[in-house]
This record gives sequence, structure tokens and C-alpha cells, in this order.
Amino acid sequence: MKNRTKYQRKYYQKNKEHILEQRKEHYQDHKEHTLEQHKEHYQNNKKEIAEQHKKYYQDNKEEIKEQHKKYNKTEKGKETIKRSNHKRRDLGFDQLNKPFEGCESHHINKNHVIFIDRNIHRSIYHTLKKPETMTKINFLALEFLTKDWNGIKIEGLIK
Ligand SMILES: [Zn+2]
Repeated sequence: MKNRTKYQRKYYQKNKEHILEQRKEHYQDHKEHTLEQHKEHYQNNKKEIAEQHKKYYQDNKEEIKEQHKKYNKTEKGKETIKRSNHKRRDLGFDQLNKPFEGCESHHINKNHVIFIDRNIHRSIYHTLKKPETMTKINFLALEFLTKDWNGIKIEGLIK
């Protein structure tokens, strides 16, 4: 067994590039197929997969909790907590229009979001922390929104 592993390792080292190349080719050739298969597999086994995940969680609850606790104590984890707390505490996400390609979300106030063209959004520096920077961008956002809606969904603005 030991020898075989050694041999395999040697073989791999010797033919590494070739093997990797083959794998890549195989992936390219079967990419669509594989994705389809995964999708199909998921569709057919949705329930079982969900069950498995649940079971995995239940069987490893303590360990998973421990991992989360550890992560939350790291710098990165602390940052994540701060960010999500901040968002939850301060900002709502009541959308006044639908997102589209090339858009960015803009908070006209703490609760309401308008999706506007990225270029418009970045054309004016603004932050909710400095209300005086909000006037112009909000004007542009509302103008954009009205234009975008063609007046059809304007009632949605009056929430
Ligand atoms: Zn904005």
C-alpha cells in the first residue's frame, strides 16, 4: 500500500501538467453537462439534500457553533458583525423601484432605496451622515426614478 501511494505520487509529479491539462479539458467538455446534471440531481433530491444538511447541522451543532464563535472573535468576524449590526440598526431597504443591470442602490434616506444608474450614482459624492451632500444626488435619483417609471408606477413612491 505504502509503495503504491509512493508510486502514485511519483506518477502524479511526473505527469502533473498532463493530468491537470486533461482535467481541464474534461471539465470544459462536460461543463454544461455537469451543470445540468447537478441541477437535475438537486431537483430530484431536493428533499434528501435538505434533510442531509439538516442532519449534518444537528450532528455537528456544537462544532459548528464553536467555529462561528471562533470566527466572530477574529478581526474579520468582528468587522462582519459590526457591519450587519450597523445595517440592521440604521438602514432600511424599502425599494422604490426594481434593480436593473448597471444599477446601484442609493438610499435617499435611512429607509428608502432607489436603484439608479451607476454612473449617475457615482457622479456626486454623498453620504447620509452629511445631509448637505444628499440634496443634489437625491434630486437626480428622483428625476431618474420618475423618468424610469414614465409616470406609470408613480403611486409606489407615495408609501
Ligand atoms: Zn447613494
